[in-house]
Amino acid sequence: MLHHSAASMPMPDTETLRADFPILDQSVNGRRLVYLDNAATTQKPLAVMLTSRHYYEAVNANIHRGTHHLARLATDSFEKARQTVAAFLHAASPDEVIFTSGTTGGINLVSHILALSGRIGQGDEILISTLEHHSNIVPWQMLCERTGAKLRIIPCHEDGTLDQDAFGKLLEGPVKLLALTWISNAFGTVNPVETMVRAAKDAGALVLIDAAQSIAHLPTDVQALGADFIAFSGHKLYAPTGIGVLWGTLPLLESLPPFLGGGEMIKEVTFEKTTYNEPPFKYEAGTPNIEGAIALAAAIEYVEGIGLDAIHEHEMELIRLAADGLSSIPGIRLFGPAGRSGSLSFNIEGVHHYDLGTLIDQMGVAVRTGHHCCQPLMARFGITGTVRASFALYNTRQEVGELIASVDKAAAMLR
Ligand code: PLP
Repeated sequence: MLHHSAASMPMPDTETLRADFPILDQSVNGRRLVYLDNAATTQKPLAVMLTSRHYYEAVNANIHRGTHHLARLATDSFEKARQTVAAFLHAASPDEVIFTSGTTGGINLVSHILALSGRIGQGDEILISTLEHHSNIVPWQMLCERTGAKLRIIPCHEDGTLDQDAFGKLLEGPVKLLALTWISNAFGTVNPVETMVRAAKDAGALVLIDAAQSIAHLPTDVQALGADFIAFSGHKLYAPTGIGVLWGTLPLLESLPPFLGGGEMIKEVTFEKTTYNEPPFKYEAGTPNIEGAIALAAAIEYVEGIGLDAIHEHEMELIRLAADGLSSIPGIRLFGPAGRSGSLSFNIEGVHHYDLGTLIDQMGVAVRTGHHCCQPLMARFGITGTVRASFALYNTRQEVGELIASVDKAAAMLR
């Protein structure tokens, strides 16, 4: 297993890195697996798997409150993981890091506490964009149903970028919250979050950034960004499923009410009245995913050992190569702008995306087909889905070549 040191070092060659990901070393239908479904979930490096194993072999106990050795060890490891996440996000304090089950869990938590606090109510507006994943649509629709607030949608242009003029006009309304994805999981569009966050804050709105797709591709500095909340999932950052993070500013977390009640989130309980713990514990009722949090910290250390900038540069080269190569296939339509990151979506005229995906899987190439949990975006473009190739640090130029060749071949067979 590789131990990478300084973040400024050039990225180790991809074949060396691939040795850290044993799952990649397998054949599918007699061909070496080409895994290009990383926007759905990334594969896990040995460093993460061994951390999980070590946790259960040497550390496992329930955290906080325990006086025995293992309880202290597990608590220390869990809280150290929180510090690692806080440093990764450039958060002002580890107390701003709430461990959740994932992006969906984080966004739903925010939607509930905003409703409970009365900060969003009848006649208020919540702004989302056409590019959002269902996880950043449905919780807000549910909140609107409960409170009488209204959902407003920032439209997008044909190239999959958001209409900034329309955004500016929408901000003139009674907007209480902007909930925006940083990178589109469907088209790879990178939203200009810095300027959009500033504009929304200037208009007096709270801002939640869905960082599910950006977290493994772009460095995140929550203080520079200036949003109020950021949610992401560990499993898209080379960590296990079932663990994620909601970051929020401490003053906000202190002032908002808890959502789930139970153990850990309390200061004192009597049958008459309960007082609540401070953040982050106030939002972590019940036994959390202890091993997941510790493994997430291992994944962050792994990524930082290579350097997110180097990873991003590598992935951007692959995605440009893929876009260039695929462009020459007759009848192809690429979605999203040229500077797309992480994901590349396309369709071929006269070919169903599902058929194309199935056929290239038979050639060993794993991509995703369908609506990518973005049905309103698909409807905006008059399509039911796309084929999506999405990239990670371990993908190679050769794999891009295999993607292009398999799509070319499959399209010719299906047309
Ligand atoms: N938001 C975006 C942009 C996503 O891509 C995803 C997952 O694909 C999610 C939210 C939901 O993430 P999870 O299912 O891990 O909660």
